[in-house]
Amino acid sequence: MPELPEVETICRGLQLHVTGRGILRVKVRERRLRCLVHRKFAESLEGRNILRIERKAKYILISLSGDVVWIVHLGMSGKLVHVDSRKAKQKHDHILVRLDNGWELRYHDPRRFGLSLVVPANDLHHLPQLKRLGLDPFDAQFTGSYLYAFTRHSDRRIRDLLLDQQIVAGIGNIYANEILSRVGVRPTTRSRRLRRSRVEAIAAMIPEVLQEAIRWCGTSFSDYRDADDKFGEFQNHLRVYDRDGEKCRLCPSQIKRVTIGNRSGFYCPTCQQ
Ligand SMILES: [Zn+2]
Repeated sequence: MPELPEVETICRGLQLHVTGRGILRVKVRERRLRCLVHRKFAESLEGRNILRIERKAKYILISLSGDVVWIVHLGMSGKLVHVDSRKAKQKHDHILVRLDNGWELRYHDPRRFGLSLVVPANDLHHLPQLKRLGLDPFDAQFTGSYLYAFTRHSDRRIRDLLLDQQIVAGIGNIYANEILSRVGVRPTTRSRRLRRSRVEAIAAMIPEVLQEAIRWCGTSFSDYRDADDKFGEFQNHLRVYDRDGEKCRLCPSQIKRVTIGNRSGFYCPTCQQ
């Protein structure tokens, strides 16, 4: 599932390729995403220019001329790729956006949990999806004290607290596990049992791990690709996620897997006490 580093990588690729391009034609081949793609989606994009591409948590915000914003969320398995329009279309290429350079933006999503909608720029911050989001991990206001205010009275497991998009936006299960492994905290630890200094270490590690993953262009297990339809490489640098039964990178122990809620947690029983 694409998390913050994957979405950031896609945004950076799109910034290079499509900023300033005009949108000629839009074809919606499948409307049934998580939210039905609006009947007027195509006509609300056609004829506009792409001004700016930004990331908000795991949302891609594409600002267009005429003060509208095209919002894309990749859901579980979405891709937004910039390809030569002569390239053969694939199954699950649900939205085709033809640009004035002969290339296309293609939204591809086998599981169809994604989102694609156009809103007036003024309405952006009233959207229920965006307005409830917590701080971005790269926001200067995201500090150890901020995170500690949430953990100190919480009975939730720290892995689950990091996944709460209303506290910190953009972290999913892969990075939550990786962040905790790097500060020696087990994912199953109850948040309120963590001392302030541990929570501060977690808060400091969050942007560090995400930044490292962005440098490797994200993590590709199955569906994720960047804007050029290429794999990320951070999966080769994971310490614990999906490595159960394999040797810890720092000690002779084997990585363990536990089920927390309906998602797995991963940790080294020696390095994470
Ligand atoms: Zn270890």
